[in-house]
Amino acid sequence: MKPNILQTPIDYLKGVGPGRADLLRKELGIHTYQDLLNFFPNRYLDKTRFYKISSLEKTSAEVQIVGKITHLKTVEQKRGKRLVADFVDDTGKMELVWFRGHKWIRENLKINTPYVIFGKTNWFNGMFSMPHPEMELVEEYKKQLRTAMQPVYPSTELLAKKGVSNRMINKIMQQLFLETNGKFYDTLTTGIREELKLIPKAEALFNVHFPKSQELLAKAQFRLKFEELFYIQLQLLIKNMLQKKKIKGFVFDQIGENFGNFYKEHLPFELTNAQKRVIKEIRSDLGSGAQMNRLLQGDVGSGKTIVALMSMLIALDNGFQACLMAPTEILSIQHYQGLTELCSELNISIYLLTGSTRTKKRREIHEKLENGEINILIGTHALLEDKVKFKNLGLAIIDEQHRFGVAQRSKLWKKNHLPPHILVMTATPIPRTLAMSLYGDLDISVIDELPPGRKPIKTVHRYDSNRLKVFRFIKEEIQKGRQIYIVYPLIQESEKMDYKDLMDGYESIAREFPDNQISIVHGQMKPADKDYEMDRFVRGETDIMVATTVIEVGVNVPNASVMIIESAERFGLSQLHQLRGRVGRGAEQSFCILMTGHKLSNDSKTRLQTMVSTNDGFEIAEVDLKLRGPGDMMGTQQSGVLNLKIADIVKDNDILKTARHHALQILKEDPDLALEKNAVLKYTYAQLVKHKNIWNYIS
Ligand code: ADP
Ligand code: MG
Repeated sequence: MKPNILQTPIDYLKGVGPGRADLLRKELGIHTYQDLLNFFPNRYLDKTRFYKISSLEKTSAEVQIVGKITHLKTVEQKRGKRLVADFVDDTGKMELVWFRGHKWIRENLKINTPYVIFGKTNWFNGMFSMPHPEMELVEEYKKQLRTAMQPVYPSTELLAKKGVSNRMINKIMQQLFLETNGKFYDTLTTGIREELKLIPKAEALFNVHFPKSQELLAKAQFRLKFEELFYIQLQLLIKNMLQKKKIKGFVFDQIGENFGNFYKEHLPFELTNAQKRVIKEIRSDLGSGAQMNRLLQGDVGSGKTIVALMSMLIALDNGFQACLMAPTEILSIQHYQGLTELCSELNISIYLLTGSTRTKKRREIHEKLENGEINILIGTHALLEDKVKFKNLGLAIIDEQHRFGVAQRSKLWKKNHLPPHILVMTATPIPRTLAMSLYGDLDISVIDELPPGRKPIKTVHRYDSNRLKVFRFIKEEIQKGRQIYIVYPLIQESEKMDYKDLMDGYESIAREFPDNQISIVHGQMKPADKDYEMDRFVRGETDIMVATTVIEVGVNVPNASVMIIESAERFGLSQLHQLRGRVGRGAEQSFCILMTGHKLSNDSKTRLQTMVSTNDGFEIAEVDLKLRGPGDMMGTQQSGVLNLKIADIVKDNDILKTARHHALQILKEDPDLALEKNAVLKYTYAQLVKHKNIWNYIS
C-alpha cells in the first residue's frame, strides 16, 4: 500500500459526503484518512457479557441485555412527558424511559421483537429502568462487525445534534479499514519493536478501534502511546541537536575583568554549590561556539538573580551587551535597583526600560543601545519592541519564563544578526518529565539548594473564624520589627468583586492596626503609584502590605516574614507556593498563614494540606500536576503537550521516559537517521513534519 493514501481528504471516504466531511473537519479536526485513523476512542464499553434482568445489581453500571418491548405508554409529569416502555426477558421486567424524541421512537420501535439494549440502569420504586438506552435489533446486531470492547469516541454537541453519532464514527472507521485494507506500514524499527515487544502498527491501529480483547487493546494502546511520545522526543532532540550544530553562537571564551572582579571583590555572599555548578554549566555553554538555550529552574529564593548577573558579566567581558526581561514592572524595577547596587563598583552601565519609561528617556535608551553605551538593559515586554535595537546583544535572559510565551522567546532571538544566547529562568518547578516534553529543546539546569541560614517557612491553615488570633499574631510580629504581606485573590472573571474584597480587607486591617503604616498595591493602580507604595514597603516605611497577586513574582523584601493569604482556597498550588516564597528571605523565622472559610472542596483540602506539609517546590509541582493535569499547569498553554492524541503526560510517565531513552540512543548512534535500519524512522519523521501531524511543537 502506498502510504499516501492516508493523505486522501476525508470527503472521499464512502459514507462521509461533503456535509459530514465539513463537520468532521470543523468539529474534530479530521481532514484526511490519516486524521481519522488517529482519532482515538477515549473509552471503551465492555459489551463482552449479557445480563439478565433478574440478576441486575443496584449499582448504576452500564449493562447489556437482550429482551423485547411489550408495551409503550406516555406518562405525564410536571415538566413535560416521558415515554415509558416495558422491557422483558425470560427472567423479569424493567422499564426503558425517554424524555425526548418521542415521535421518532414511537414510529420506529418494534413491539415484541428482540432487541439488544445497552445503557445505565437506575433502581427506582422497586423496578429497574434504563433512560435513553442504546438499542439495536438482534437481527442487525448479528450482522455487524462486532468487537467485544466497544469504542466510544470523543464528540461535540454539534456533532450529536447533527446526528454524527458514535455509531456513525464507528461505521466510517470500518469503511476506512476496508478501503485501506488495514495494511499500514510499520513506523518503528524492528529493533525497538523487538526490544519492547510491541505489536505491529497495523495490528495496533485495528485493535485500538476494534479491540478483539482487553489484552490486545492494552497492547495496542501501549504501542501507540509509545510511538506518539517517541516521535515527540525524537523531534525535540533533533531540534536541540540542530540548534547546537547549525546555530552558531558567539563564543564567550574570555573570563575577564568584570566577572573576575565581581567574583573576587564584590560578591555579597558565598555562592551555594548549586549556584556554582549552574554558573559553570552556563559558562561552558557560552564558550562552546553553539547558541545556548538553557532553562534555569530554581525554587523561589534559591538565588537565580546572581546567576543571571554573573552570566551577563561574562557577555560584557567578551564585548557584548546583555538584557534581562521580567514579566512585571515591579520586578523589573527591583532587578534594576538590585543589580545596579551590586555593580556599583564595576564600570558598567545598566538601564531600565518599561512601558512607563518617558519618551525622552526612551529615545536616549534607543540611542545608547545602538551605539553600545548601554551594557545591560533590564525591563519588561517593552524590550521586545522593534524599536529596541542593540549594537551587539550577546545574551538575553528571561525571568519567570512561565509568564512569557514561546513567541516572545523567539522574538529575542532576532535581536541580533546571530541569535544571542538565551537563558530562561523559572521559579515554577516543572516536574522533570513535563519539562522534558515542554522544553525538550532546552537544556536544563537546576538550583536545588537554598542559600544557607534560611529557616524553613512555617505554614499553617486557619479558618476565617480564627481571624482575631491571626491579627494578634501579626501584632506580635510587627512589634518584633517584621513586615507583613496580606494577599487577596484577583481573578479576572470577578475582578470587581475581588476589588471589593481587597478594599474591605484593607479597611478592616486599617481599623485593626490604627498605629501601623499600611501599603496597598493592586492591578488597577497606576504604575507610578504602585511603585511608590511598593517602595515604601521595601524601605521598611510601612509594616503591612495589602496586595493582590501582583506581588507574586520575584519581589524581594528580606524583612517581611509573614505571608497571609486570604481565600487561599481560590489559589492554585503553584501560585500559593510562589506567594509563600515572598517570605523566608531573611534570617528570621517566617510564617505563611492560609486563610479560608469552612466550606472546602476535596481538591482545595489537598492543596492546603500539601502547602502545610512541604516547602519543596518540586514536590508541590508533582501534586499540582496530579490534581490539575498538565493542561492547566503554568507554561503549558502554548505548547502542544495538550494535543496528545493518545498518550497522557502524567499517567504515561514511564512510557515517556522509555520513549526518550530510545530516541536518545538512536540519535547518539545515528544523528542524521542515515543508517538503513533507521530508514523507517527517517521516513515517518519527515511525513509527520510535512503533514504537520507532529503536535505542533514549539515554533
Ligand atoms: P530567586 O531565585 O527567587 O530569584 P533571588 O535571586 O531573588 O531568588 O535571591 C533571593 C535572596 O537570596 C536574595 O536576597 C539574594 O541576595 C539572596 N541570595 C542569593 N544567593 C545567596 C547565597 N549564595 N547566599 C546568601 N544569600 C543569597
Ligand atoms: Mg527571581
